[in-house]
Amino acid sequence: MHYADTTTNDNGTVTAFCYCGWSAVHDTQESADAAAEYHQNDDADDYAAA
Ligand SMILES: [Zn+2]
Repeated sequence: MHYADTTTNDNGTVTAFCYCGWSAVHDTQESADAAAEYHQNDDADDYAAA
């Protein structure tokens, strides 16, 4: 089970992250939200170590 969230960085980018250790930096909140949602909904175990 993944629980992803997003946080806005000082430089204006948005990091999507998950308690499994996954994270990805995006230029917009919308893009980060989409990535977080995708990560959460995917059976993401295969990607957890990426
Ligand atoms: Zn995760």
